Amino acid sequence: MREVLDIPLAEILPESPTVLVQQGVPAGTEPETIADIAREACRLLTSLTAPRGLLEDIDLATFAAIYPGQGENAPRSPLAEIHPQAEALALFAVTVGSAVSQQIDQLFDDHNYPLAAALDAAASLAADSGAAWMQKRFAGRCTSNQGVLRYSPGYCGWHVSAQIKLFAKLNPGEIGITLGESCLMDPLKSVSGVMVAGPPVIHEFTPDFDFCAECADHQCRDRIDHVLHPGHKET
Ligand code: SF4
Repeated sequence: MREVLDIPLAEILPESPTVLVQQGVPAGTEPETIADIAREACRLLTSLTAPRGLLEDIDLATFAAIYPGQGENAPRSPLAEIHPQAEALALFAVTVGSAVSQQIDQLFDDHNYPLAAALDAAASLAADSGAAWMQKRFAGRCTSNQGVLRYSPGYCGWHVSAQIKLFAKLNPGEIGITLGESCLMDPLKSVSGVMVAGPPVIHEFTPDFDFCAECADHQCRDRIDHVLHPGHKET
């Protein structure tokens, strides 16, 4: 199954206090001018965002050929251990569209750095929320005893150059996403990867990989809790 999806805007727009937290401003400590800038960023995001997503089922053998990418993955990684145990897989891509990125660039060119940075943070949050929305969509097609998590090239040992094979199979150009020479996506505020469904326990691992020593947030802990204990809210 291949689905091109218009993602409901209301499902992915961040609240302005969340934008400030994303920028490192603790909740409740922001001066009113900063809060106004975050509100303006959210207003701009609402008017400029056209979120779209693409979801395509893929069999395990086909993904096993995509995962190695250009041969630059870490020797060991969570996804290398998880994907062979999957019961269902889907490639995905989601974008908030190019107009937001153009506006961010324009604001930087105009030296309006506070609003540019706030809009950049808001658009990143919206793109991540779009990926979370796609994950719920895929989970809706899975059984209630399967746990679903998404994994993206560029994180946790899966090298960003794996985007080349992922894009060749998924063709996200259909929703306006292209891949640059350095494997960055255009529009920049886009997310791609693979949804993995199976017994929740397949997503559990100990974060003792070489690259974990440099990890700032250990987000995997929250994600694993979320899939093992569905009442746990993913942050
Ligand atoms: S600790 Fe960080 S780098 Fe290691 S698996 Fe978890 S999120 Fe990835």
